[in-house]
Amino acid sequence: MQQLTQEAISNFRKKGFFSEFFEDKNDALKYVLNEVGSSGVGIGGSMTIHELGWFEPLKKRGKTIWHWFEKYDGILEEENAAPCYITSANAISADGAIINIDANGNRIAAAGFGAKKVFVVCGENKIERDIPSALLRAKNIAAPMNAKRLNRKTPCAIKADKCHNCNSPERICRITSITTFPITRMQTHIIFIAGSWGY
Ligand code: SF4
Repeated sequence: MQQLTQEAISNFRKKGFFSEFFEDKNDALKYVLNEVGSSGVGIGGSMTIHELGWFEPLKKRGKTIWHWFEKYDGILEEENAAPCYITSANAISADGAIINIDANGNRIAAAGFGAKKVFVVCGENKIERDIPSALLRAKNIAAPMNAKRLNRKTPCAIKADKCHNCNSPERICRITSITTFPITRMQTHIIFIAGSWGY
């Protein structure tokens, strides 16, 4: 485990988050499956969860909704109404904060209200020392790569470099959240997995 990961886990725990580290992605999945039990699960847009290959085992268990694999009207609302929500983060601050930037606001809404348990699953590549550097990561690494993946006509996607703070109609950065303490009435689990996952 990297030094920064250790610091992050310790700081998240001090604040009342649940935070764990796993060398093996299958052990992390076991942890999540045990925590969700038989409850419904919604999954937010996440390259991390996609790369980890967790949709199949969750779907096999039942009661799992992910708009990346099924398309119908109202799926985002259904996903967000699930009692358990799995997402990643665009960046994590080792002093104990979660940063996300959304276009639809669905991940930020679900991780902020309604779910009983939220799981933020991250590779160690997402961890920065403090909130300013985590914001820079979210803005200059995660958002441009997401814009490129989504084929957006934004300067960051076309140039594939950094944020240009565009005013494009296709801009994906429309709401930014900085979660500094566990949300009241909700359990938030920050799960770190060894290595680099998603972006
Ligand atoms: S504000 Fe525009 S240029 Fe900057 S990351 Fe978001 S979409 Fe890309």
